[in-house]
Amino acid sequence: MRIEFLGTGGATTTPRPGCHCKICDEAREKGVPYARTGPSLFIHGPDVLIDTPEESAIQINRAGIDRIAGCFYSHWHPDHTMGRRVWETRNVDLRGWPPEPQRTNIYLPEQVARDFPERLGLQEHFDFMSRQGTVQVIELKDGISVELDGVEITPFRLAEDYVYAFLLVEAGIRVLIVPDEMHGWSPEQAPFPLDDLELAILPMGVTEFNVFTGVRQIDRDHKVLGMEMTFHDTLDVVQSLGARHTILTHIEEMEQLSFDELRELERKLHGEGLDITFAWDTMTVDVPG
Ligand SMILES: [Zn+2]
Ligand SMILES: [Zn+2]
Repeated sequence: MRIEFLGTGGATTTPRPGCHCKICDEAREKGVPYARTGPSLFIHGPDVLIDTPEESAIQINRAGIDRIAGCFYSHWHPDHTMGRRVWETRNVDLRGWPPEPQRTNIYLPEQVARDFPERLGLQEHFDFMSRQGTVQVIELKDGISVELDGVEITPFRLAEDYVYAFLLVEAGIRVLIVPDEMHGWSPEQAPFPLDDLELAILPMGVTEFNVFTGVRQIDRDHKVLGMEMTFHDTLDVVQSLGARHTILTHIEEMEQLSFDELRELERKLHGEGLDITFAWDTMTVDVPG
């Protein structure tokens, strides 16, 4: 399988509209890999999309993706779902009569399916697209796996238990994808052992301390520290997972780390024995198997 990072930003994209910090101005001037759209990735092979941020339609075009066998939603948060109208723009048949829309399978893990009626008008919108014939919503009870083109995909809950991670297995090769919200989680909480991972894809976390100088940059009373995993804690997860390779994504503009600074941070982490890459929009990685 080949994994493509369609978007590597977080709740905020880089650049942010109207922001003239150095990170945003550089992203505006240079584009990718300095610019980041919302969090989403695509698994070529089974042709599976994970999450639809606002830029989803643009991302899918940019990547030249034609076939999408299904989309898994990790949780209801707007940065992961607000591009959901892509299913209409991609699949609707406005000219034909009777219309013959394409239809995409939408896989909702159990709690995500429970949250859709309560959050952001998600249920109403997916009901609308279901009637239109552009989506088919499939709820996955916890513990259920889906197999697509030889890849077994198992969603499971994190400590923030409205959020799901995904274990992908193809011919014994194992890949962990955690799209977001790793706060309070450690690998031993998973419902099955997460050993022998070829690749782990994790959210970067909040840099409570400057990654180069160690100086505190977020007030210790700031509520974000009670809600989000810190970068430091993320590195603990990286170490305890012990995956052959780790890619960090969901990189917020507020981290104020440019593409070049993240490269420099990679070198520093390599020096500490950690094989980590920071993802960028359009990055692809081939997973053997
Ligand atoms: Zn997010
Ligand atoms: Zn900015």
